[in-house]
Amino acid sequence: MSLLEPIDLLVENGLLLSMDHSMRPLEGGAVGVRGGAILEVGPTRELRERYLPSQVLDATGCAVLPGLINAHTHAPMTIFRGLADDLPLMEWLEHYIFPAEAHLRAEWVHWGALLACAEMLLSGTTTFCDMYLFEDEVARAAKQAGMRALLGEVLYDFPSPNYGPIEQGFRYTEELIQSWEGDPLVQVAVEPHAPFTCSPELLRRARELADSHGVPLIIHLAETTHEVSRVQEMYGLSPVNHLRELSILDGPTIADHVVWVDQEEIRVLSEHGVGIVHNPESNMKLASGVAPVRAMLEMGLAVGLGTDGAASNNDLDLFREMDSAAKLHKVFSKDPTVMDAPTVLAMATRMGARALGLESLVGSLEPGKRADLILVDLGSPHLCPVHEVVSHLVYTARGSDVRSVVIDGRVVVQDRRLLTLDLPIIMEAVREISSEIKELVQRKR
Ligand SMILES: [Zn+2]
Repeated sequence: MSLLEPIDLLVENGLLLSMDHSMRPLEGGAVGVRGGAILEVGPTRELRERYLPSQVLDATGCAVLPGLINAHTHAPMTIFRGLADDLPLMEWLEHYIFPAEAHLRAEWVHWGALLACAEMLLSGTTTFCDMYLFEDEVARAAKQAGMRALLGEVLYDFPSPNYGPIEQGFRYTEELIQSWEGDPLVQVAVEPHAPFTCSPELLRRARELADSHGVPLIIHLAETTHEVSRVQEMYGLSPVNHLRELSILDGPTIADHVVWVDQEEIRVLSEHGVGIVHNPESNMKLASGVAPVRAMLEMGLAVGLGTDGAASNNDLDLFREMDSAAKLHKVFSKDPTVMDAPTVLAMATRMGARALGLESLVGSLEPGKRADLILVDLGSPHLCPVHEVVSHLVYTARGSDVRSVVIDGRVVVQDRRLLTLDLPIIMEAVREISSEIKELVQRKR
């Protein structure tokens, strides 16, 4: 008679980085998984003595760490990837993105979101936080991909190609919340676009809707100097103070970008426990500015990392984003000690989870949390030798080094093979959409 306890999955023999508060890598480490949750983390030998796994992932030669969290995306915008680069923001929006988005259909969002999920999974992202149109399609794509997502329909003052007038936007959001309630992977938020595209009335209603369903409110905030002067002109206040005055920050809130804020506004955000999402590559590409992340961290804010949409990045690879985040702040502050590798890796995992309010579920490999983890192959020349694995993960590894991915205890990528989605079909559909988009943009110009 076997005394071994049956479990669903054992990830064994890895260089384990649990991203709990110790940050100490464990060689020959293992993670035992049952019912989609982490049961135990420890030396492989000890877990082998206790458990009888029905599935085993051998992590020899790999780092094992929590799945990465892409805390700000517009997933379906993969269909606009590389459509137009190197342009001033308004020209980019008015000549390319808006003309194409005016024709946006659910079908485009469907394929664009599936492509984004495929790209994210294959580069080690297990959770993403999304804002776009036809968001039910994004939710369904996440579900099909087996990814974890926090997402919502973008709300603003002008008519939407999805729901039309704002009244129906609120209805759409409420239906989205109700239809995904209790889902193990997909959670819905209320997502007004930004302080300069949403009236005070819209913002107040958004807060009320979020509160009545106990879901967070997610908003772009202080992304550009253009936004700051618009809000100042319209309301006589900075974007942060405008939201504070309207009591929009009085409840779980996630703010994206947060580039143009002073020390006093950072204090306001900190007092309200706002989760911040930093998007260094998008901010660099659109020349938005450099967010004062160092000051935010010193003030105790939870700062996650996001890629933003693929049209302004142009990829969804969080390994590249980590590298950029670490280096951007060093050159900007002329101080090589800021944003060290452990801090940046925490932003992409544990702190990102905290920024999104998901820290009880994901972000570290600890018993009781959901089993979202990735295996990063350390066997390539650019990762040799391994003096310090955290340094490699931030400065050297790429998304393509991810070998296997587990989400909610389910293996979704194995040996670089995507098990949940049919990639050639998705890519062909997106190629077809891209020729339609090209035509629309050319007609407009
Ligand atoms: Zn954005």
